[in-house]
Amino acid sequence: MLKANYHTHTKLCNHAEGMPEDYIKEAISLGFKELGMSDHGPVPREFMSEEEYLNNWIQRNMTLEEYYSIYLPALDEAISKYGSKIKIYKGLEVEYIPGHEEYYIGLKANLDYLNLGIHYFLSDGIEKNSYDDVNYKTIYDYADIAIKGMETGIYNCLVHPDLFYFNYKNEEGKQVFDKHCIKVSHMICETASRLGIYLEVNANGLANSLKYGHKDEWLYPRKEFWEIAKTYPNLRIIIGADAHKIKNLYSADVKAVEEFAHKLGLKVEDYMKI
Ligand SMILES: [Zn+2]
Ligand SMILES: [Zn+2]
Repeated sequence: MLKANYHTHTKLCNHAEGMPEDYIKEAISLGFKELGMSDHGPVPREFMSEEEYLNNWIQRNMTLEEYYSIYLPALDEAISKYGSKIKIYKGLEVEYIPGHEEYYIGLKANLDYLNLGIHYFLSDGIEKNSYDDVNYKTIYDYADIAIKGMETGIYNCLVHPDLFYFNYKNEEGKQVFDKHCIKVSHMICETASRLGIYLEVNANGLANSLKYGHKDEWLYPRKEFWEIAKTYPNLRIIIGADAHKIKNLYSADVKAVEEFAHKLGLKVEDYMKI
């Protein structure tokens, strides 16, 4: 039974519903002890070309202006209203673009934690999309960004670390969890384990897998990845709802992921130490 969730979106990202207060009320009624809000963070337009910006759907994210004038005040208001009933953490889900460390540190100055989500990654000088552009070569660029991001010490958790498999293509253009996937899984788990950064088993992967025609097979959370993760005894693992709807805070998919982790024998922590 889930007691906390640290991956929660709001309507400010333009592909989710609700504001912090809506999720907090739901979390209280579910008996959660902690809730972390972590909507998709703003990305300044000048960080990449227009093509990269659009290819990676960043136009949907909240703007810097909305971050300061809407998101942070909504969190503070929710904390003053509900803070005695549930522990509320202020966070964001952001990327890692090398060279912009100061920017992420600046965002974190107003927050309790940052989730690192690699929705795009620098490869051959271009920000490539993790849902479209991962193959037996570019998978190492995905891993490189994940590892360098974790090594900055800015982030608390790498969410959906196994997203690289979403549309992965091997040398023959087939989707197989091959030696490259295995190697990258070890690289990510070793780094997270060494640095004490949480890896998240992401419940939104089920809906995303289904949306792309994979009925019985989850693209992520990916069993092969988490079997490797299990071999790192000190690795910190958390389950994340990645809720884009209020009802998804503790949905059938979250329960299925709890069952998945339990069956695999993963040592999942109830709370993220922030
Ligand atoms: Zn999202
Ligand atoms: Zn998310």
